Amino acid sequence: MREPIADGKRRLGVMGGTFDPIHHGHLVAASEVAARFDLDEVIFVPTGQPWQKGHRSVSPAEDRYLMTVIATASNPQFSVSRIDIDRGGKTYTIDTLRELRATYANDDLFFITGADALAQILGWRDAGELFSLAHFIGVTRPGHTLTDPGLPQGGVSLIEVPALAISSTDCRARVARGDPVWYLVPDGVVRYINKRALYRDAP
Ligand code: ATP
Ligand code: MG
Repeated sequence: MREPIADGKRRLGVMGGTFDPIHHGHLVAASEVAARFDLDEVIFVPTGQPWQKGHRSVSPAEDRYLMTVIATASNPQFSVSRIDIDRGGKTYTIDTLRELRATYANDDLFFITGADALAQILGWRDAGELFSLAHFIGVTRPGHTLTDPGLPQGGVSLIEVPALAISSTDCRARVARGDPVWYLVPDGVVRYINKRALYRDAP
């Protein structure tokens, strides 16, 4: 890991997601951005109740949190934050970033988002303020076009990451059908899904 520079300022990535379940697309995106942007750490932040996903029932926050911990535990640069889960209520990225900004007042924040989420970002709550709290990094995702949705000048960097056509939606559907999710999600996550019988009757 990179040594902290003289003023102690660290470069922190923030990877928000529902992680229902976390999969290798999330992990590759975080790893690639960490390397390219010389990040000291990437903090994975599982959502509480996500406001966009009101139409389907999301797995319990503790299950999503634990799968995220299992998936990231072996990487010394990765950590998991409970802030969105513990805040309660619906999760808005503006609240996540305000809280992280306050906690890591001296550090630089880099919010990592896939092409699909980036395209929606101007519709997020308090979008104007979001870009003053963190630098945004949009990453490629198969099936989605990566473009700057009109963020303030210099507010977003767009980067290509290795293409993994994996989504949590597809992983849930596979489990429900009895198809394998081995190698789409980390082995420990496959075992956790089985142990807790998650996604058995997903639509
Ligand atoms: P769902 O299908 O339930 O929406 P998802 O696979 O999109 O799940 P999320 O938890 O919604 O996963 O995504 C969290 C973040 O990770 C978002 O910014 C999303 O764009 C990004 N992301 C998810 N999968 C990939 C992937 N395969 N490649 C690059 N980025 C991804
Ligand atoms: Mg998604």
